[in-house]
Amino acid sequence: MQNPLQSLTTLSAKKEKQNVCILGATGSIGESTLKVLALHSAHYQVFALSGHGRLDQLAALSARYQPEYVSVPASKGEQFAQDLKQRFPNAKVPNIVEGEAGLKFIAEHSDVDVVMAAIVGAAGLEPTLAAVQAGKRVLLANKEALVMAGSLFMDCVRSSGAMLLPVDSEHNAIFQCLPADYFQTTERFQSHPSRAGVSQILLTASGGPFRQFDLQQLERVTPEQACKHPNWVMGQKISVDSATLMNKGLELIEACHLFDLPAERVTVVVHPQSIIHSLVQYVDGSTLAQMGNPDMCTPIAHALAWPKRIDAGVAPLDLFQVATLNFEKPDEVRFPCLRLAREAMQAGGTTPAVLNAANEVAVAAFLAKTIKFCDIPRIIQAVITQLPMIAARDLATILHYDAAARQIAQKIVQTSV
Ligand code: NDP
Ligand code: MG
Repeated sequence: MQNPLQSLTTLSAKKEKQNVCILGATGSIGESTLKVLALHSAHYQVFALSGHGRLDQLAALSARYQPEYVSVPASKGEQFAQDLKQRFPNAKVPNIVEGEAGLKFIAEHSDVDVVMAAIVGAAGLEPTLAAVQAGKRVLLANKEALVMAGSLFMDCVRSSGAMLLPVDSEHNAIFQCLPADYFQTTERFQSHPSRAGVSQILLTASGGPFRQFDLQQLERVTPEQACKHPNWVMGQKISVDSATLMNKGLELIEACHLFDLPAERVTVVVHPQSIIHSLVQYVDGSTLAQMGNPDMCTPIAHALAWPKRIDAGVAPLDLFQVATLNFEKPDEVRFPCLRLAREAMQAGGTTPAVLNAANEVAVAAFLAKTIKFCDIPRIIQAVITQLPMIAARDLATILHYDAAARQIAQKIVQTSV
């Protein structure tokens, strides 16, 4: 089998400067990506940027980085252009594209070499798939795309020859710790106890801000508390996902697709310091870990330059300062989202897309203070029960189930107001 993550088309050999498209430039990953690119302006240039709600920020980024294209939501182009001209009269006005078509246009543009897929949630699926279909080097932060459409997505990576590089820090760590022949070997976990000497993956989780809260305390937590992650600075949705442990559940599904693993080969380990970003265990008793300060610039720089290494602007790890590393088992009674995600992966078909959609609706309702923190897993469970699994044959089926799950979840949210 062709190696989906390592189909080296060495784009860097062709050109002096790589053209980069950032889907979700106004977000946390977008910001970190621009930070890394700024350190390597001799090798990379910003070609296209997208934003959604924070268009004032997109205008500032456009004035600063002078991309050829910016993508804004449908019918916001004119307003964006006016704002840009008013606030930054000397800035070059980029070509402005709009809506879903605009996102796809920049993701698959023939002048683009590298696409950072950093839109949050299901909205990222289609533009990311467009980049994959166009055979780009795709830096994948948008885990929801793989959760919703994992098999289809990975088939597309294989057939298009795109180079898919994981940016999620755990998956990037696993990628760094896997043996070189992992994707080439004919061994599969389904029929062998190991694959290229690998016996299992240990996926680390910080445990989030409520790691030590009991169920009564969890019932009362606020969005403000949930968004204050102890180790990482992230967007609101992923911060809440980290607090419920759904983020680790989504990552478990992501790992199964990226590394062609059954869910039983992925063990989640709570590691509150977020210094070890994940580990790979081998049959000979070795366990390889990737470590570093918790800063997304490291996996972004790794994915950008792989197989080379470039400066990420991140301070080296000081083990004397870290001093202690702790590990615990996750508690799936207080944090049922992890169990729900594992079960969804095992059920397969459309269930992970349903889980993802119900979670997106429930998290938005929690952030809007319409529901309580502990309602999030209850709503997801109820939606999954109401939508029996069918095979995820094609994108249309997946999107249909995504929409149906959102509708059911919204109804449950409304009845709980
Ligand atoms: P943010 O919320 O900070 O940013 C999300 C980006 O997506 C913004 O640019 C936002 O635009 C854009 N966006 C939101 N909704 C839409 C939509 N409907 N259509 C088009 N664009 C939209 O999130 P993060 O940067 O934290 O996360 C991005 C992705 O990366 C997520 O999938 C997350 O799980 C993943 N990830 C993030 C990590 C992190 O440390 N932050 C770590 C690992 C993975 P605007 O801001 O203008 O509204
Ligand atoms: Mg992660």
